[in-house]
Amino acid sequence: MNSIVVSKFGGTSMGSIQAMERSATISIERNSFLVVVSATSGTTDLLIQLAQNASAGNIELTEKNLYAIKERHEAMMKEISSTYEAREILKSHFTELELLVQNITLLKELTPKAHDHILSLGERMSSLLFKEVLQLKLPHKKIQLLDAREFIKTDSNFGKATPQIDIIALQCSKLEKNNIYVTQGFIGSDAEGNTTILGRGGSDYSAALFAEGLRASTLEIWTDVAGIATTDPRICKKAKIINEISYAEAGEMAQYGAKVLHPATIAPAVRQSIPVFVGSTFEKDLPGTWIRGSVNDRPAVRAITRRSNQALLTISNPSMFNAYGFMGKVFEIFGMNRISVDCVTTSEIAIAVTVDHATLENKNFLEDLKSIGSIEIETGLALISLIGNDLFARNSLAKTIFSSVETTSIRMMSFGASSYNFNFLVKDDVSQACIENLHQTLIEKVL
Ligand code: ASP
Ligand code: MG
Repeated sequence: MNSIVVSKFGGTSMGSIQAMERSATISIERNSFLVVVSATSGTTDLLIQLAQNASAGNIELTEKNLYAIKERHEAMMKEISSTYEAREILKSHFTELELLVQNITLLKELTPKAHDHILSLGERMSSLLFKEVLQLKLPHKKIQLLDAREFIKTDSNFGKATPQIDIIALQCSKLEKNNIYVTQGFIGSDAEGNTTILGRGGSDYSAALFAEGLRASTLEIWTDVAGIATTDPRICKKAKIINEISYAEAGEMAQYGAKVLHPATIAPAVRQSIPVFVGSTFEKDLPGTWIRGSVNDRPAVRAITRRSNQALLTISNPSMFNAYGFMGKVFEIFGMNRISVDCVTTSEIAIAVTVDHATLENKNFLEDLKSIGSIEIETGLALISLIGNDLFARNSLAKTIFSSVETTSIRMMSFGASSYNFNFLVKDDVSQACIENLHQTLIEKVL
């Protein structure tokens, strides 16, 4: 068989039995070999709350969360003519969850290992239900439910584990090409068999890793929006769906705040040159977006993204004047704390780096930085990124950008490392107006 389709359905596409049925119909129409699913919408958040309430010893809220999770999945199971076996597996998932919760409540301690294990139940329950729904639609075919933890092997960095792609490929090669499989996104396991997760929103990444391991011909990401838009439609009503975009542009977009895809999704697709489709289960016949290695249309500015809640960290050390090694030390601290560096600008004695606001909660990281210089923190910022093609070579682009944002001040700017993006930092409260202006001048007028 030479065409292997891997399809991933997100939380809203798993949100009810009707949503699952819609998703099942799509996976049949598209001839999916492997379907990767997220937890039903809101369940991962509920599981996080549950784990936190249990570790805080808050019995009442813990019970409430547990009840909500069980009730929701039980009701869905009752809505379909499910098999006895599936109902028993669902019960065993509930028992596993209760046991984990009891232990956490007793110890009043939530280890990262237990946290990942608890979160895995969301995808394990939704995939069990989805497999039943798909089986009912395809009675003559045997649908197999896979435990993704046997395939997505990772390191033991709980919370955001790193996958081991060679082992994943080896595991995927064992799948029987004439079957149809359903599995979980988001979860994996380490060498000792402990459950790990790939980070929030990680199901897209799981699907891409499976697609890579299977040497798939297409990876489909089915979500609740009709593709990747020129900017977030909630920011700017004139946003339009992009029909075709390159890996490089889509990767930059995901990295710089477009919510449609998890940022790590593109890399596995690039490694195996797998085209990626993004579409909506609610409007399945719309053209959606195709992400490929090369595309025909290469506009200067394809899209504008925003990352809100940014903080700017300025680390300075006057004794670094005419000295060397300062940047090395700063980056080492980012590396040791597993914090990725986004946008950077430097001067002789200072270096300014943008980070997500949440990073400021990492006190060790801030202490480490203080050991090498003084730090200044500015908050309430948004990083706006223009994503496009050959930006270095576009004459007068800078003039257009600056005149579109002339009513506000730019706190920092970064351009030059890649010809695909131009980033700048403004106050969060003016970012929407900035994007509307830029979208009008650089995208709407050009289209
Ligand atoms: N269920 C996980 C989350 O909500 C993974 C995903 O949906 O992609 O983060
Ligand atoms: Mg998602």
